[in-house]
Amino acid sequence: MAGTEQQHGKPGGAGLSAEGRQALRALPAIHLILDRLSVIREGEAIAPSVMADSARQILESVRARILAGETATPCVNRLAEEALAVARRGHRPFHQGVINATGIVLHTNLGRAPLAQAAIDAAVAVARYSNLEFDLETGRRGRRLGGVGPLVSRLLGAEAGTAVNNCAGATVLVLRALCAGREVVVSRGQLVEIGGSFRLPEIFKVAGVRLVEVGSTNITRVEDYAGAITPDTAALLRVHTANYRITGHTEAPGPEPLAKLASERGVLFIDDVGSGAVQTAGKPGFETEPDPRAGLLAGAHVTLMSGDKLLGGPQAGLIAGQADLMRRVEKDPLFRALRLDKMTLAALEATLRLHLDPERAWKEIPALAMLGVSSEDLNRRARVWASLLEGSPGLEFIEVVADQSPVGGGSLPGRDQPTWVVALRAEFQSDDHLAAALRRQSPPIIARVQDGRVLLDPRTVSPSEEAGFLAGVKKALAND
Ligand SMILES: *Cc1c(COP(=O)(O)O)cnc(C)c1O
Repeated sequence: MAGTEQQHGKPGGAGLSAEGRQALRALPAIHLILDRLSVIREGEAIAPSVMADSARQILESVRARILAGETATPCVNRLAEEALAVARRGHRPFHQGVINATGIVLHTNLGRAPLAQAAIDAAVAVARYSNLEFDLETGRRGRRLGGVGPLVSRLLGAEAGTAVNNCAGATVLVLRALCAGREVVVSRGQLVEIGGSFRLPEIFKVAGVRLVEVGSTNITRVEDYAGAITPDTAALLRVHTANYRITGHTEAPGPEPLAKLASERGVLFIDDVGSGAVQTAGKPGFETEPDPRAGLLAGAHVTLMSGDKLLGGPQAGLIAGQADLMRRVEKDPLFRALRLDKMTLAALEATLRLHLDPERAWKEIPALAMLGVSSEDLNRRARVWASLLEGSPGLEFIEVVADQSPVGGGSLPGRDQPTWVVALRAEFQSDDHLAAALRRQSPPIIARVQDGRVLLDPRTVSPSEEAGFLAGVKKALAND
């Protein structure tokens, strides 16, 4: 069988023409290709094993082509060059910075919130040795959450605060630490799935808590919660339905009546607010995102939120509430399993410090700055882009059009932000081909494709990226 022979690396070729057999015999030995590679790679730091794999891969593909009927054998130089190209592709880092031209500020696939410069600097500064768990005053062991904990409590107006790896983890942790083996009451309208495999009923199972559903999908009243409380009830849980919206006839109690009921009946009230709308609370366009401070002010015992949504920080789950409850949370073994690393802690601390001064927060936290940018500004930048791209080789059509961009990250569902985009079409490439050519640039450019056109939204492209961005778009138009 030809396939088997090929797998064993033998020339094979039974049934091949004389030219085919000749072509197989003419294939150079791998060490000749490797010798040539060591000359042409010119000090590129590609591991020898990667080079050898690439050479083998190229040889295999040429052999397969000959077995399929081709009769020409490329020379050693050519094979070495092809192997180098393969090795370079394999050597490129998987994770790299990209230019987000989608206009979606909290794009989960693009890493949600871009960090503030202060947060980036802080993360880099601790990347080597740092005082992660070391008290510089006493010279003894210190608290890992010594920086972030007090900032969380101060920002949210809670007695104490802490943080773990993400908000999904924070939910499991809090339910387990405070409610394990008992019942927790949740509205049917809030049994959400957020971002795949974070389904509340499953989270309850993992946490070892019995879920008690009350109300209906669209209507849940405080009496429904009251009627479900038994001696076995540990808590009432309110979950912000972050990534979808039920409109029309709906009703769900706010934090005040739930906090009052919880304190009357001696159970906890846990408020999962999700997106962490500290600065955006009450601002026009952001009315649907709950203020985490409002729940605590109303009497929530514990509040949970994400670090990388509207807070604009690194991936994290922030937990705030009563000091004795925070101590129980931090004592749970799961807290250790979900703990934050030094770089995230440093970036989170820097982001929280910016939040203490709302004026700085709106200016220096990119997610907030991008959400706060004016429509006139977006229109002006889109027009500048269009005029600079006009006449580029390979461009068929370009215009500036009004559009809508979702905020993303499961925030503000159904509340798209009005924006201005550059819409373009390439002369000899389809919309999908142009989008792919944009992704091949360095750094890759991620665009939206809609109605046969590629859309570039200035909202999420920072001015410092602009020169590289425009050069990349020109190269992609020329299919470079
Ligand atoms: C987004 C969200 C979560 C999950 O947060 P991650 O930080 O992504 O784990 C949990 N609850 C609510 C209400 C959310 O909006």
